[in-house]
Amino acid sequence: MTSTLPSSFSSAAAGAHRGQDVAPDAAPLPVSLRIRERLEVAGVPYLANDNIAEHLGEGELEQLEIEVAGKVRDLLRSLVIDIDRDHNTEETAERVARMYLHEVFKGRYHDQPKIASFPNVKKLDEIYTVGPISVRSACSHHLVPILGNCWIGIKPGERVIGLSKFSRVADWVFSRPHIQEEAVMILADEIERLCEPQGLAILVKAQHYCMKWRGVKEPQTSMVNSVVRGDFRHDPSLKAEFFELVKQQESLLSN
Ligand SMILES: [Zn+2]
Repeated sequence: MTSTLPSSFSSAAAGAHRGQDVAPDAAPLPVSLRIRERLEVAGVPYLANDNIAEHLGEGELEQLEIEVAGKVRDLLRSLVIDIDRDHNTEETAERVARMYLHEVFKGRYHDQPKIASFPNVKKLDEIYTVGPISVRSACSHHLVPILGNCWIGIKPGERVIGLSKFSRVADWVFSRPHIQEEAVMILADEIERLCEPQGLAILVKAQHYCMKWRGVKEPQTSMVNSVVRGDFRHDPSLKAEFFELVKQQESLLSN
């Protein structure tokens, strides 16, 4: 459209034309800005590994998908890729937006999967381990994959959850941009909240593609870290038993 009118006048006129009371220059705020303002007002943190699902309004995730796709399109253009002619990257922006919001970072934007816990009626108190559980995450620094395995050791407390539920909660926690040390702590917090075990141990072994694919390009290096809480922390023999069980589970894998 060509116009010689000042832009404030023309947007007010356009608003009046639609019968709306539009303030001059009032453009709708990007949905991400509306959400961030809401989080700021509420004093809610929204770091890369925080979940913000309960602060998203109806339809906002869909609006975010559109906004993110637009930004990825701009990113591709800034990388001087001819997305208008290149059939391979034509819809990359939409794919990447969907992938971030609903797959690889779904643990930020989607609610925790429903996980029912049950009273520990039999008063089970023997430790058990679950694993390996796949770790699929991304590093906060480069947004490239962190892939590996995780083992969880439990000394049951008042409540118990089904074995498969550990995979579900781990997948939800890991599906965010992370650093491995914090991911393990966040997962431990969630499991404690779900089943209040007397003891909890988590071990994560993962390869960081920011080291394999770029940077120092060390293809074999992995990072191993663990957290031990409750009885696993206070009782060294219990902690040793956990690491022994993990070793056995690992040797099953290589057979
Ligand atoms: Zn990195």
